[in-house]
Amino acid sequence: DIPIESETRRRKAVVVGGGPVGCLAALSLAKQGWDVHLYDGRPDANSPKLKEGLRSVNLAISARGFAAVRAVDPAMADVFLQDTIPMKGRMIHSRAGVQQPQAYDILGQSINAVDRGLINKTFQAALRKSDRIQVFYEHKLTQAEFDERVLTFVDAFGKEVLVGFDFCVGADGSYSNVRRQLMRVVRMDYSQFYIPHEYMEFKIPAGLDTEGNVAFKLDPNYLHIWPRKSFMFIALANKDKSFTCSLFATGQELQELKDRPSTGLDWVKAHFPDVVPLIGESAILDSFRNNPKSPLIAIKANPYHYKDRVVILGDAAHSMVPFFGQGLNCGLEDVRVLDIILREEGVEAVRPSSSSSDSYPGDTKRNSVVVDSKLASALRRYTETRHDDLLAISDLSLANLVEMQHSVATPTYLVHRALDNVLAYLTWGWQGAPAAAIQQLSEVPFPSASPTGWLPLYTMVTFRPDISYSTLKRKAERQDRILQWGMSTAAILGLIGYAGLKWTAKR
Ligand code: FAD
Repeated sequence: DIPIESETRRRKAVVVGGGPVGCLAALSLAKQGWDVHLYDGRPDANSPKLKEGLRSVNLAISARGFAAVRAVDPAMADVFLQDTIPMKGRMIHSRAGVQQPQAYDILGQSINAVDRGLINKTFQAALRKSDRIQVFYEHKLTQAEFDERVLTFVDAFGKEVLVGFDFCVGADGSYSNVRRQLMRVVRMDYSQFYIPHEYMEFKIPAGLDTEGNVAFKLDPNYLHIWPRKSFMFIALANKDKSFTCSLFATGQELQELKDRPSTGLDWVKAHFPDVVPLIGESAILDSFRNNPKSPLIAIKANPYHYKDRVVILGDAAHSMVPFFGQGLNCGLEDVRVLDIILREEGVEAVRPSSSSSDSYPGDTKRNSVVVDSKLASALRRYTETRHDDLLAISDLSLANLVEMQHSVATPTYLVHRALDNVLAYLTWGWQGAPAAAIQQLSEVPFPSASPTGWLPLYTMVTFRPDISYSTLKRKAERQDRILQWGMSTAAILGLIGYAGLKWTAKR
């Protein structure tokens, strides 16, 4: 804790966006001593106004997300853990209704299903507890003048509010206005694309067990997948014993099903027959009629910052498709990485009050703009170290669509996976992989480890927050080449052996 004395002044950080990433960024900056003001365009999570439009997508949090939350507030990470449902693997549902489990990890580690609304409520409760954070809901950012350090918001009554700041964090999601404003002052490389797939939600309600108690209709400790090559259905458990399900298919296909809900029901019966009794025919019809279909966007940007003024984090910087379950985990990790860099660069959250609002000892002045050189260098380092990792996880997420909706049910994938696990077990089996131990650390190291030994891609992405996404992608590609080579060599040797046997038999 940094004491406030009369001769010092806390600097003001403005966080735009009160989603999970913005909330964690606010808590992390407050912990460093900043005076934090958080603005969100929506009402707060407990407001009755919010419920009308909010869908209850649940999602999976894994070690990276937990490591980031634990770094800021270990008690809050434990609260999250209590409210999650561990999923130790995928449960693959065939068209014939056969269920086949696939563990995520040879050590039995799990990812965790959690309700999105619950995440927001837990974060907002933590914000309320901090006396260094002020929150302003129903304030939408409309404009930013970063050089002048002024942000313009419009409040619930349509009134313009001008807000000054020392440092701005943009965590305002995929359609970020902070990012748009940033593009006006930096030469940002930017690309976005919508994949052909969109998604629609369904709900499997809780059932009753043989004794009449409320019960799950499927095993809650798996992520259930119905892979059907070019589309898929998935289900994640909720605490109230229901499941939230998403149907992923091309936007055109989903639209056709929505236009004719009875055709939609027949289609579900044909492709996912075991889902029909779980949801119920009339609920399926209602879902096609009433539930919206939503697009999936992928965004790449570079740089993520401007001088010492602003940085974008989370979906605002790198929206990705959800097939590796890493979008939020990665956004929370952004906060952890930024926090470490700000501390390592010695960025000051408190300044002598004698200094004018925008000029401090050690600052430099370029083009009449005063720059806090430590903060500027920290943000530059953030962009430089983070960019390759964000590209890597974005590409891995896209590639995982094919794995989830098709490969998981193919023999080649199962052989590949078995070999992957055997090789990992040969390397780590007797010593125990370091993953579990790393996750328990109150401060997980900066994601930069380069581990030796064999580690499956999923294990590295999901359970090893000490390995950066770009390092693990390179390692997985190398391992894949070795496996492909091994499998091809084994196939060729097998063929030669077979031909040799045939030839010997003929003689
Ligand atoms: P958001 O949650 O989008 O929050 C942005 C906030 O900014 C909002 O509160 C919004 O009101 C506010 N805002 C926007 N514009 C303004 C403005 N102009 N002024 C003020 N406030 C503004 N990730 C995982 O890790 N695991 C999963 O299993 C997973 N599953 C997913 C499934 C689906 C179908 C989808 C679509 C995504 C999934 N994700 C998952 C990704 C995850 O949902 C996002 O990465 C995460 O929500 C991003 O958080 P955020 O705080 O950056 O942005």
